[in-house]
Amino acid sequence: MKLTEISTVKALCAEFGFGFKKKFGQNFIVRDSVPMDIAENAEGLCALEIGPGIGTLTDCLCQKCEKVVAVEIDTTLAPMLETTVGHHDNLKVIFGDVMKTDIKALCEEEFAGKRVAVCANLPYYITTPVLMHLLESGVSFESITVMVQKEVADRLCAEAGTSEYGAITVTCARYGKVKKLFDVPKSCFYPMPSVDSAVVTLIPAEKEEIFCKDEELLTKVIRATFNQRRKTLVNALSAEIKTHSKAQLAEIIVKCGFREDIRGEKLTLRDFAEIVNNM
Ligand code: SAM
Repeated sequence: MKLTEISTVKALCAEFGFGFKKKFGQNFIVRDSVPMDIAENAEGLCALEIGPGIGTLTDCLCQKCEKVVAVEIDTTLAPMLETTVGHHDNLKVIFGDVMKTDIKALCEEEFAGKRVAVCANLPYYITTPVLMHLLESGVSFESITVMVQKEVADRLCAEAGTSEYGAITVTCARYGKVKKLFDVPKSCFYPMPSVDSAVVTLIPAEKEEIFCKDEELLTKVIRATFNQRRKTLVNALSAEIKTHSKAQLAEIIVKCGFREDIRGEKLTLRDFAEIVNNM
């Protein structure tokens, strides 16, 4: 059964009386090379998949990985998944909302200290929260490889000072090095979404080592900066950081080698850490 054929997807949906649910961001991959190219990033490891759908990427992961655990919110996909990937004895499908899943406990229970990579074609409506949920789970993933809207991929990989650069760019940089792997046109999905996608990978081991004396304050500073990105850094920070006066903040910014009227969107993660280290 070729799961990347539209005719196969349509036949399965008809056989199991399955209707696509927009609210779950159900756009399934129907381009041959794409799932295998994503799965390659977990080769030889264990894999955690979010949203297996009808099992197209899951099938490739099962061929490449020691063990695969897939978390799917839509229980109506269960009979279809049983037919498409139920024969893999290295697969466990867990039905539930990934946002309500304790990722650390799941990984400890299912993978018991083995090396784990995340691979997923993420539902668009929830891309950033899922990424944050994975990053903040405390699990040391080997890599997190996800298909996201192209516009989100551009934001994740953006350079400081560009319009795509934002809080999510800096936040991801705190966890790892993000690289865009390849673009995926909207025609590679069924039903076809209105936007193109791209696959990005985040590799924690390649993270730039940056010292910051207060990680919590760094989070606050990044948040304050991008909450009001059109303001100068000093104005954005003084609106939310109440431990320092505006004059003190201006002094710190200048001491770190920036113009007093610089905008925060021009700062890299290292620059933000430098500001915090001087607070
Ligand atoms: N992996 C399949 C593929 O590539 O063809 C399907 C990807 S589809 C874009 C997203 C999948 O995530 C759907 O199967 C959807 O039901 C599932 N999903 C949506 N929200 C979810 C959530 N909160 N937790 C777990 N799965 C979710």
